[in-house]
Order: sequence, then C-alpha cells, then structure tokens
Amino acid sequence: EYDPQALWQKDKDHFIHPFTDFSVFKEQGCDLITDSDGIYVQDAHGNRFIDGIAGLWCVNVGHGRREIGEAMAEQATRMAYFSTFNNLSNVPATLLADKLAELAPAHLNHVFYSCGGSAANDATIRLVHYYFNRLGKPAKKRILSRNNAYHGTTYLAATLTGIASNNWEFDTLDHLVTHLSEANCYRRPEGMSETEYCDHLVGEFEATIAEIGADNIAAFIAEPIMGAGGVLVAPKGYHQRMQAVCRANDILYIADEVVTGFGRLGHFFASEAVFDTQPDIINCAKGLSSGYAPLGATLISDELYEVLSTPQGPGGVLSTGFTYSGHPVSCAAALKNIEIIEREGICENVREVGPYLEERLRSLSHHATVGDVRGSHFMMCLENVADKETKALLPVEARVGDRVAFEAQKRGLIIRPVGHLNIVSPPLIWTRDVVDEVVAILDASLSATTESLRA
Ligand code: PLP
Repeated sequence: EYDPQALWQKDKDHFIHPFTDFSVFKEQGCDLITDSDGIYVQDAHGNRFIDGIAGLWCVNVGHGRREIGEAMAEQATRMAYFSTFNNLSNVPATLLADKLAELAPAHLNHVFYSCGGSAANDATIRLVHYYFNRLGKPAKKRILSRNNAYHGTTYLAATLTGIASNNWEFDTLDHLVTHLSEANCYRRPEGMSETEYCDHLVGEFEATIAEIGADNIAAFIAEPIMGAGGVLVAPKGYHQRMQAVCRANDILYIADEVVTGFGRLGHFFASEAVFDTQPDIINCAKGLSSGYAPLGATLISDELYEVLSTPQGPGGVLSTGFTYSGHPVSCAAALKNIEIIEREGICENVREVGPYLEERLRSLSHHATVGDVRGSHFMMCLENVADKETKALLPVEARVGDRVAFEAQKRGLIIRPVGHLNIVSPPLIWTRDVVDEVVAILDASLSATTESLRA
C-alpha cells in the first residue's frame, strides 16, 4: 500500500527532522517506520526490528495497543476538544489528575498539564516564579541545573539543558539558569571514591548557593538518572543530599521524571520509590501516555498549591497554560496506558527483567570499544571509548555510536546513538528471552564495529 521510494523522496524534500545532521540526511534520507506491534516496528520495505528505544524512551507499554487507540477514538468522537482554562474542564483530564495524585508521592496532589516534556519544564519554571512572587520573594528567580542534563528544547527548557552542543547555535537565557557539574561516576576525578565524589558535588552546590545567594535561587532541577546526557547514575545518596541542601536554603527541588517515570525504573515515579527523595515538583511526559498522544504533566505539592491558589485580588491570575492543557484525547490515552501498566504488572516486569538486562549488557564489556555499561533497569547505556585504560574517546569522525547502531539495525535491532554512546531504553514489556536475543545482536554488532574501525 506504500510506495517506499516515493515516500522517501517526499520526506527528503519536505520534512525538516528534529535533531538531524543534514550532511547525512541530505544524502541518505530517512527510514520510514510504517507499522508496529508489541516490541517490534517495521519499515516501509517490510523489515522488522526489535525496538530498543521505546520510540524515544516513551512507548512504555509497547506498540499497537488497540485499547489505547479505541479509548482515544471514543473520546475524539464524543468530545475531542474543549478549553480547560479557568472554570472549564473535561472528564479524562479530571480523572487523570485524580489518578496521578494517587500514584505520585503522597504530598503531590495537584497537576498542571502541558503538551510534552519541554513544555512541562518551561511551565514549571513559570509556576515556580509565580510562587515566589506570591510569597513576596521576586528575586528568587534563578534555577540551578546540571551540565549534560536534558530538559527539552523550547527556549527556557533548552537553557536548562546542559548538553553544550544543543545550544551551540542559539542564545540561552543565562540570567535565569546556572549549571552545576553533572554526576558522572565513570568520569569522576581520578582517585576519588564514590563517597568523596558525592561530597565534592554537594560541596559545589553549596558553594554555588553561597556565591549567587539563596535569596536569588528558586529551584534545583534534576533528572533522577540523567538520560540523553548519557544515562548517568549519580553516586549513592546524591539526590537526598541535594534535596537536603535545597530544603536548608528555601530552594525548590524539581525532579524531571520525563524518562524515569511510568515504570522505566520499576515504579510509577522513581524519586521516592528508588531515590528516597520527596521533590516539591515532579515533571512527567513520554511514558505518561506511552507516546500514543502528546502529553506532559507537572505535579506539585500541597504546600505550593496552597500559595498558587490563594486569591490575592486583581493580578492574581495564573497566566500560563496551553490551548491543549489537559487535552481530552491525550488524557484518555494516558488513563488507558496507566490501566495497562497496572493490570499487566509492567512495573513488576521491569523490576524482574531489569536487573537481568543490566547483567547481560554488562557481559558485553569485554568488547574493545566498550568502556562503560551503565544505567538501571530499562534505562541503559554503552559508552564507547578508544582506550579503556585512559577512557580516551575515539575521534568524532569515527562516529562510533552510529556505527554500532547501524550494525545493530542490520541485524534487526534499533538502538539509539548519541555521539559516542549507545542508549538502550526499550518498551517495558521485554522478557528475558528478548533480552538474550538483543544481547546476541549487540555482541555481533560490537564485533563488527571493532572490525570496521580497524579497516
Ligand atoms: N526532560 C527529559 C528528561 C527528557 O528526556 C526530555 C526528552 O527527551 C524532555 C524533558 C523533553 O521532552 P519533550 O521532547 O517531550 O519536549
């Protein structure tokens, strides 16, 4: 039913793809993904691949869930859209807010909707500024983020993002954001134990607060495990200690759970269940609707809500929001998605299969290029290096991440290259058998990569 060649041409002629290297794209065009089912996707030529990236860290319940499509169709035909501004609401948005309050840590009971992760982060900062304005602390504006964090691509979210290459060609809103060091255990300073490294990072945070002044800092934002920046797992106790510093300085602690939420680490939210933190705000998107429809949500604490919602006369309007805040069709998709996660024990599957995935991926460490295998549960990454001893990188032109991903795709598996890294962030329904199949493919792909680098 498709003419793959004609589609390939139309795409190449007209579609500006995000995060795309046009020197490659203009030569090669794109692979069109046309079909999907469970853990598989299929291209326009009929080639089937295991999806090793859950679309883009998001199709948590897997592809082709008819019941999500049906829930969306039912909502779209009954009442596809109406405003949620002010005194209007809709049934799925209301039910989803209630459900999220039930699933989130006990103190987070209020939900602000957006259309994705970037927008959620952007809106969050507006809520935070509004909050401190209302408390009579308008100077508390600055947000502390971290190098290599990924928080999105709208202007403010891109400024929060600490991946330098994301902003090479752009201005950033530097008066609003300061970046701390990322927590990178693999590349921590030589001779430092993990505990000392944690002390060092917390010390940097405290020193930065002393320099900028707590009166000028509104919040600290962090991914529980840094995702696109390299699946970086912080040293033990890091998040709790950063939260304690926040509390001591009247700085809000924001957890960006856009990737870690909705089961990827074995729980609906990782902050409390995995890292024993109680953020003032949790942001989510992606797995919230498993990518079946665009949706983001900001969950805020009772304490924040109390301040945001106290009438203060004229001017006391929360002037932020989107036409599609609480979109009924997206919220219907999310409700069905959550129902599936609960009904099928998907968090339990991640807790069961996740450690096996970690262990099996670690068995690939013997390959010449694999310097580090890291991550947790269904959020994993291979870091490719030129020299395991010195951890020196291969030259950028070697495109080692692309090579590994290319070899894997030839063998029926899609994983994500990010520079010299390869990310594995699958749908949460992988079984042990699938893990074995994937690891065998990666094993062969890494051998082929080593050979091609030698050639
Ligand atoms: N926050 C994190 C941690 C992310 O990984 C992403 C996207 O990958 C975003 C925010 C931005 O989400 P979106 O692409 O839906 O705007």
